[in-house]
Amino acid sequence: MTESPVELRADCTQCFALCCVALPFTRSADFAVDKAAGEPCGHLQDDFGCGVHGKLRDVGFRGCTSFDCFGAGQRVSQETFGGRDWRAHPETAGAMFQTLPVMRALHELLWYLADIEERPETASLHAEARALHREIGETAQKDADSLATVDLDGLRGSIGPFLTRASEMVRGSVGGRLKSRQHLQLMGANLSGARLSGVSFRGSLLIAADLRKADLRYADLLGADLRDADLSEADLTGAVFVTQSQINSARGSAGTALPARVERPAHW
Ligand code: SF4
Repeated sequence: MTESPVELRADCTQCFALCCVALPFTRSADFAVDKAAGEPCGHLQDDFGCGVHGKLRDVGFRGCTSFDCFGAGQRVSQETFGGRDWRAHPETAGAMFQTLPVMRALHELLWYLADIEERPETASLHAEARALHREIGETAQKDADSLATVDLDGLRGSIGPFLTRASEMVRGSVGGRLKSRQHLQLMGANLSGARLSGVSFRGSLLIAADLRKADLRYADLLGADLRDADLSEADLTGAVFVTQSQINSARGSAGTALPARVERPAHW
């Protein structure tokens, strides 16, 4: 079964606030405090709500507004652990918290495959994408013990070449340019107004880069670090492998054109 885009998005109402407990924070511009993995955040309420929701950025928890679990939180809560929450069933807590990052990694791969499956430019790859989607989807249905043994690096390594082929197909369809700026340090770079359509920025550090009014149509942004990059008035129509977390961590405006798969952050 192929997950719909909705199922690859966080639904905090169905999750036992797993990211607020399982993941560690380091005191920084993103988090006002240090927190160890497995320790509930001090703002977490008894009903799994957030005590500072609505003013997260004002109180130093900007990182919480950037994070996206790709729908892993609700799946671990409701499917893997059958709706048993870690407070009422503390014996499940350790395994539940360890399962979250594994499920998130699987759902991230499903997100990229769904991106390929939805593009007309990659029609010749759809059958292969669906088969990979099914395979990973079946893995994600396993129990916590089985999920703990998933070789995520191996899985990423085996899917990587397929994602590359899809990216080249999309980028080649828009002017045939296959320029690469992969794995570059472009922190703070002035790329305002630059014509970057179809360029691959895989794994590049674009932290605080000035991308205002840049043409990023059909650019490959897989794994690019866009924290504090300014995307105001930039055009990301059709950009490849863009995640909600990347967009949430960047700056933008009402005039930023986003790929169809991501939503405009509330804080823009
Ligand atoms: S601040 Fe709120 S959203 Fe962030 S970890 Fe704490 S409880 Fe969760």
